[in-house]
Amino acid sequence: MADARRSRREEKAPARPESSTSIPMPGGSLVGPACPQDPRPGRAGKESARRCGFIALIGAPNVGKSTLVNALVGSKVAIVSHKVQTTRSLLRGIATAGSAQLIFVDTPGIFAPRRRLDRAMVTSAWAGAADADVVGMMVEASRGVDAETGDVLDKLTAIRRPRILLINKIDLVEKTRLLEIARHANDRMEFAATFMVSALTGNGVPDVKSWLAEHVPEGPWHYPPDQITDAPLRQLAAEITREKLYLRLHQELPYQSMVETEQWRKLGDGSIRIEQTIYVERDSQRKIVLGKGGRSIKAIGADARREIADMIEAPVHLFLFVKVRERWSEDRDHYRAMGLEFPRE
Ligand code: GDP
Ligand code: MG
Repeated sequence: MADARRSRREEKAPARPESSTSIPMPGGSLVGPACPQDPRPGRAGKESARRCGFIALIGAPNVGKSTLVNALVGSKVAIVSHKVQTTRSLLRGIATAGSAQLIFVDTPGIFAPRRRLDRAMVTSAWAGAADADVVGMMVEASRGVDAETGDVLDKLTAIRRPRILLINKIDLVEKTRLLEIARHANDRMEFAATFMVSALTGNGVPDVKSWLAEHVPEGPWHYPPDQITDAPLRQLAAEITREKLYLRLHQELPYQSMVETEQWRKLGDGSIRIEQTIYVERDSQRKIVLGKGGRSIKAIGADARREIADMIEAPVHLFLFVKVRERWSEDRDHYRAMGLEFPRE
């Protein structure tokens, strides 16, 4: 199980006191009928009752779900890239806010699936929402409620969980536009609260946390207080390499590539030797990953090594291999490794 620790968590202080960006929506208070029973106890003397809840972030690809999970946790647990469909399975980022433990479920984006891997990701995203205590519906400010987001909104009606609206990337648009989007979305569907955030700058993020801290159910914490994700380190390390791969090769590389950590060995001097394999589906893709004279793979390895070493706070020797495995995205075992159900067709 996870042992990524919260050690660096306190260093990043996303709080900006002036950034109170939750707004009451027309015709209601922040707590509306979408959150039928307000679970807040009477304030006096009950402040320390423990609370714990799962909050699934859903939305179209690229709206910033993974970035927001990282901002909420205060440490990088989910990988991010401008390439769509970076997140493949449900990853949990864990944060504390006062006496509450907030478990954020980062989901793959919801879109019209074509291939098997796409279908598995979309199914997993909806499963994450159905299991959550609160669903955070994310909309990108610069796109508003476009066709893709509208589609997610329509399907969300079937999920009978309390929901909040999170308008992200507010650093990119005018304030008037934000109010328009908030109204539009709230007209289509009832939200218990609306927040405007920038996952990138941290603006508005503390408000989301404090609201959730008061609204998740009372109950014991699921994870130890210093744990920030439920993903094992091997998997996080593989995700980091996949992120570097995407960041470097986003134009050339089709998204059918995956990374597996095959070996993780602690050496006598306290350093860690890690071997990972990057699987691609065709030899032409293998050549792209390697780059001229191995230049690309070297750069990817150097970036990944640095970040993995940072995460585990130990020196790392990272060895990357590239293998062609035709049709890996049709192979049941790989789905299990990614934490996804294998769709029947
Ligand atoms: P996901 O697919 O919904 O998980 O989206 P990601 O978290 O991977 O982010 C997609 C892209 O949007 C990345 O390039 C992020 O850096 C960028 N992004 C995320 N949040 C913000 C934000 O608040 N402002 C801006 N300007 N960019 C953001
Ligand atoms: Mg993502």
